[in-house]
Amino acid sequence: MTERVFNFSAGPAAFPEKVLMQARDEMMSLPGLGMSVMEISHRSDEFKAIHSQAISNIRTLLSVPDDYEVLFLQGGSRLQFSMIPMNLASPGQTADYFVTGTWSKKSVGECEKIAGVTPNVVCDFSESGYDRIPAAGEVKLNPDAAYAYYCSNETVQGVQFLDEPDVGDVPLICDSSSDIFCRPLPVQKYGMIYACAQKNAGPAGVTIVIMRKDLVERSSDDLPGYLSFKTHADAGSMFNTPPTFAIYMVNLVAKWLLNDVGGLDKMFARNQEKASMLYEVIDNSDGFYVPHAQPDSRSIMNVTFKLAKEDLLGEFVQQAAERRLCNLKGHRSVGGIRASIYNAVPVEGVTELRDFMTEFRSSH
Ligand code: PMP
Repeated sequence: MTERVFNFSAGPAAFPEKVLMQARDEMMSLPGLGMSVMEISHRSDEFKAIHSQAISNIRTLLSVPDDYEVLFLQGGSRLQFSMIPMNLASPGQTADYFVTGTWSKKSVGECEKIAGVTPNVVCDFSESGYDRIPAAGEVKLNPDAAYAYYCSNETVQGVQFLDEPDVGDVPLICDSSSDIFCRPLPVQKYGMIYACAQKNAGPAGVTIVIMRKDLVERSSDDLPGYLSFKTHADAGSMFNTPPTFAIYMVNLVAKWLLNDVGGLDKMFARNQEKASMLYEVIDNSDGFYVPHAQPDSRSIMNVTFKLAKEDLLGEFVQQAAERRLCNLKGHRSVGGIRASIYNAVPVEGVTELRDFMTEFRSSH
């Protein structure tokens, strides 16, 4: 198969075609260099220029204030589940955790393993299958917590916070792995935002960390080098060999967002349009399609729903694939369908899916 499909994968996920084409064009030789980005030293001037451009493009996209570091780390978001309590809490402290789905639940599990740090679960909607986020004022927070942690978009369940929970003066930490760059963010409200790249920002292998500088100072000197945020900040994210190709790709994606899409306000409007196309079909289906998330908690990145006639699921997935609509099967823990419509999934793909859903319903 050489023709491309519409890819609704939850991650690693679709790339903007323009980015893939530029990477292809530069694969044999970065302009003027005669080598690919994968073949040059991370200490070379050429790579340093790509690295600092990637950071400055992220700063521009999200209007990151000067008192925040932007770091490129490895180990995925999973390593952040451990590094956060290791670096940002001291033994004897507690940290508040909003549990709104699979990923925030797992982050609590990792925090429990860090000696002396106790996670305090402020909400957990597992009984209703994680179908919503808490309402403002619904949870009781600890003003003395080392930090308050949440996941802005739960990739598995398809629930998303519309804006930041109010946590007072406690540093707010956000796992934005599956919705970074989907909309503008008031970065100054956060202590830290992080995201593995492989959904909305680039390929697997690099994790973007945006952290207020005073929090970087919390890292104890006793931590192993790689596990300390301070080590990475002091070394300008070059403590060890960074994932050079992944950072190069993140830079191309950031450039695409800035120059082709026209910034995150425009991206947000496009994402809202795409998501509402699908939710409209679901809501107007007389119960044929059953949404997972409650209306005020719906994700604009991962649209999750079931078919009321569950035995039609296989047929739905197969017929969709025949129309080049791929990777729609829901996560095994939730079942049903998950359409991940990240930034790079074009409006045409979502329109195609919407039309398919309408036709599938009428023919069943
Ligand atoms: N958090 C969220 C919200 C995710 O979607 C994922 C990946 N699906 C992770 C964390 C884990 O990321 P990684 O595999 O890079 O560790």
